[in-house]
Amino acid sequence: MEFRIIFAFILLFEGGLSVEHCKPNIAIIGGGIGGASSCHFLTELFESNLNIDLYEAKTIGGRLTTIQIDDNEFEAGGAIIHPQNKYMQEFVKLLGLEHRPTDDNKAGIWNGNEFVFEESNWELISFAKLLYRYGIQPFSLNRYVQSILNDFAKIYGLQDAGKSFENVTGLLSAMNNGFPKLLQISIKDHLLNLGYSDQMIDELVKSTLVVNYGQTTNVHSFVGSVSIAGAGFDLWSVKGGNKKVPEHLIYRNKNVHIVPSYVVKIVNAPKENGRQSYEVHYHSKGSTIIMKSTYDIVIVATPLTSDQQYPIIFEGFPNNDFYGAEKYHRTIATFVKADLKPHYFGSAEEIDIILSCDPNKTIVSSVGRLNSVEATLKYSRVWKIFSNAPLQSGVLNEMFSNIDEIKEISWKAYPEYSTYVHEAKFKLHNALYHVNAIEWAASAMEMSVISGRNVAILSHKDFSETCYHYKINRMQNDIPENTPSTEL
Ligand SMILES: Cc1cc2nc3c(=O)[nH]c(=O)nc-3n(C[C@H](O)[C@H](O)[C@H](O)COP(=O)(O)OP(=O)(O)OC[C@H]3O[C@@H](n4cnc5c(N)ncnc54)[C@H](O)[C@@H]3O)c2cc1C
Repeated sequence: MEFRIIFAFILLFEGGLSVEHCKPNIAIIGGGIGGASSCHFLTELFESNLNIDLYEAKTIGGRLTTIQIDDNEFEAGGAIIHPQNKYMQEFVKLLGLEHRPTDDNKAGIWNGNEFVFEESNWELISFAKLLYRYGIQPFSLNRYVQSILNDFAKIYGLQDAGKSFENVTGLLSAMNNGFPKLLQISIKDHLLNLGYSDQMIDELVKSTLVVNYGQTTNVHSFVGSVSIAGAGFDLWSVKGGNKKVPEHLIYRNKNVHIVPSYVVKIVNAPKENGRQSYEVHYHSKGSTIIMKSTYDIVIVATPLTSDQQYPIIFEGFPNNDFYGAEKYHRTIATFVKADLKPHYFGSAEEIDIILSCDPNKTIVSSVGRLNSVEATLKYSRVWKIFSNAPLQSGVLNEMFSNIDEIKEISWKAYPEYSTYVHEAKFKLHNALYHVNAIEWAASAMEMSVISGRNVAILSHKDFSETCYHYKINRMQNDIPENTPSTEL
């Protein structure tokens, strides 16, 4: 024991734990906000003493992307950011970007026949209408969700203190030890137990879930609460497009080498000396040849469900249990440049945001007027419609007149949520991590960043420990310091 302590002192004295001879070779698979933030936090933790190959099958930004209509770009994937999303706020500052506040749009909740609740142009009247229909319940619900957000915010202090978690349950428990239980009860049952009315849950709460996740109130209560929080005030986006955050995080990082390829296989190939090593097999864009590279650490920053466009095979692992029966929810985003027909929705006046509270009946989940990512449009004729299936042109013609343009994106958007709990792991194997495990708690940009940081802290800790043991081993065996670490 004493012997080890002496070595530890020697290593510290030498600056040995600065890992200068233990420079990790890291593969990150996926260049969305999860992969981009992993790059950022890893570079901070390793003090730039690392190499990162970032594999991206399509476009940097992933589910943060824009679509062009005429000369303008519009958010097509992840659009809205909560004011209390600390990391997204910090990235915007760090990267010299700007906020784009959401427009002051008038919203209504539609059941397929009529608007059961419709905001007024006057805030006070909207407030009175809310009170008239639902009593004080929306206000107490708001307080309840705020208390969840306050606990949620504890993660920032924990991560600043270097805490990391191997699975989603551990991360949620650290915020509040009651949070994992929220994964096991539907938001409907949970709110009924708290004394909220069926009417408020089936209209107000359900409409947030239909627009945010294409699902209803049978989802678990954690994602249900995140969805309600997403209907709050002072929501914002990044001027120029939310995709600028991952783009800037990746392109400005000199330690990141982008590999425009899709990964087909990860092979567990430990070295003879027992050190962890992985082969990443990939197809370059436009080539049929499969190539491979070897890494000390692999971070998967894309969902691992069998329904993804570029599934990854795992080979040589003792338990090949990386894929379960879970699926991602298909959401169709249709963009239409046209004039809305308010009569279709049972209204005489034009309304900017239509939220369905009965998606089986309404076909569409939501219809919303869009401003461009530069916020240049005073009166926009561009609408985004979310639905769970592609829309027939007949439906669009019933909803809109003077249609100039139609574009559609089909998303594997977010998990299909339920109250069935599966163990979502950040650490899949030694030195193999998964950022998107977090999405089983809730899918949102800030969640991906929190998970990116968690995986960065975890992998840095694990690697530093391995490196420490390796250095002790080398000193004990009297191997010269300048022998390259790639021979490990
Ligand atoms: C329509 C829609 C609306 C949304 N609205 C909001 C919102 O308002 N607010 C909010 O906070 N969140 C929202 N979200 C969720 C949010 O966009 C996501 O949670 C977040 O962007 C996920 O980021 P990610 O980096 O984890 O994954 P992704 O963005 O999916 O990134 C994964 C990347 O990996 C790449 N990839 C996949 N497989 C491979 C492979 N085998 N090899 C190499 N590369 C691969 C993909 O091309 C992709 O670029 C929305 C999502 C959608 C789809």
